[in-house]
Amino acid sequence: MDQLLGDLRGILPKGRILLGEPMSRHTTFQIGGGADYFVKPCSVDELRRVVGACRAADVPYCVLGKGSNMLVSDAGYRGVVIDMGMFDGVVVGDVAYAPGVSDGGAYNAAAANPVSDGAAEKAAATKPTAAGRAENEAVSNPASDSGAKNAAAAKPAGMPNGARVSGGLFATAAHDKADEVRIIGGAGLTLSRLTALATARGLSGLEFAAGIPGTLGGATVMNAGAYGCEMKDVLTGAVVLTKEGEVLELDAKALRLGYRSSCVAEQGYIVLEAILSLHRGDPAAIRERIRELTESRKEKQPISLPSAGSTFKRPKEGYAAKLIEDAGMRGARVGGAQVSEKHCGFVVNVGDATAADVIALCTQVEEAVMERFGVALELEIKVIG
Ligand SMILES: Cc1cc2nc3c(=O)[nH]c(=O)nc-3n(C[C@H](O)[C@H](O)[C@H](O)COP(=O)(O)OP(=O)(O)OC[C@H]3O[C@@H](n4cnc5c(N)ncnc54)[C@H](O)[C@@H]3O)c2cc1C
Repeated sequence: MDQLLGDLRGILPKGRILLGEPMSRHTTFQIGGGADYFVKPCSVDELRRVVGACRAADVPYCVLGKGSNMLVSDAGYRGVVIDMGMFDGVVVGDVAYAPGVSDGGAYNAAAANPVSDGAAEKAAATKPTAAGRAENEAVSNPASDSGAKNAAAAKPAGMPNGARVSGGLFATAAHDKADEVRIIGGAGLTLSRLTALATARGLSGLEFAAGIPGTLGGATVMNAGAYGCEMKDVLTGAVVLTKEGEVLELDAKALRLGYRSSCVAEQGYIVLEAILSLHRGDPAAIRERIRELTESRKEKQPISLPSAGSTFKRPKEGYAAKLIEDAGMRGARVGGAQVSEKHCGFVVNVGDATAADVIALCTQVEEAVMERFGVALELEIKVIG
């Protein structure tokens, strides 16, 4: 048994370490070879120790949300894929919801009703806030040893402005005011569940995100957006784990949210939870707006076929889809990968596409757009492995 596997087995139960797990099962493209190790931590402590083990063994690791913006190579990933799916608790205003409950599931210990050991652990780890809060609380409690240490710790070198060692910036972040309600969501919370919760509570601001098939963590990292809105409009901050194992609280400015970008990847942070600020609205109007946007997606986007959404970023010269169409690439195909006939901004998997097919097709698209318009397209999807 290799050293890393031994270390991982000392951190996580056997059922939460998969070997050679096909990444095609975990990406919306339904493409990707096996990950050497695929792990599912459920608390900040486990996550920190997994990262520490990878670093000690000098093995690369990568963080997975819903895999809806990823292309994993056919050879797979030589390292550890960390699935954040178990960090899915959420607190809306002053009400915490049990993992997996989208409405009427106000949290109390009994309400979590764990059906498995994993769920029990997860429930413990997510009470009373969203992700790894049990530990964060210990960190922020000056009466505890670790809290005292943290309070005394000098700000680590290189920490961005607006960041601080975890210790209470967001401890009272979830609140319910007359016109504003804050939400603290775990990184693995899906945007669909989050928007369902917000809608049920009559909270407006996230309607644009209802059809984005990712997690709150992935959407924070990517500053996901649609229909003229983006995560930046609603995010007030995030709690992240650094490579060194420190928990930091970043305000929105420190996250440096730009067009489909943030500081998270470049700093090697892992988003643990994000804090959003929504305002009260008319539930019927919120539902109606989501219905309109969902209809618009169905009409304009190839959502019935596997893809990773918009393949290319929007260049300053115009919409990628229009440039691709005008370069004559609508419907272009390599193997099982095709430029969508319905929306040229999407490369879709029309049947058994390989990652090599997608990459070859993207190269053809980039060359055609460069040749016709002199515009350099840049991939929005993240290529892993
Ligand atoms: C049909 C379809 C429609 C889409 N529509 C839109 C749209 O309208 N607007 C839009 O912006 N996007 C859209 N997308 C793309 C995608 O859903 C978003 O980018 C989403 O935010 C990605 O979230 P995820 O959880 O799937 O992230 P993943 O794909 O799992 O990861 C994306 C990147 O973020 C990193 N990451 C994920 N979680 C964390 C974390 N907790 N901490 C640190 N790093 C992390 C990963 O390592 C990777 O680099 C669409 C995709 C599809 C398939």
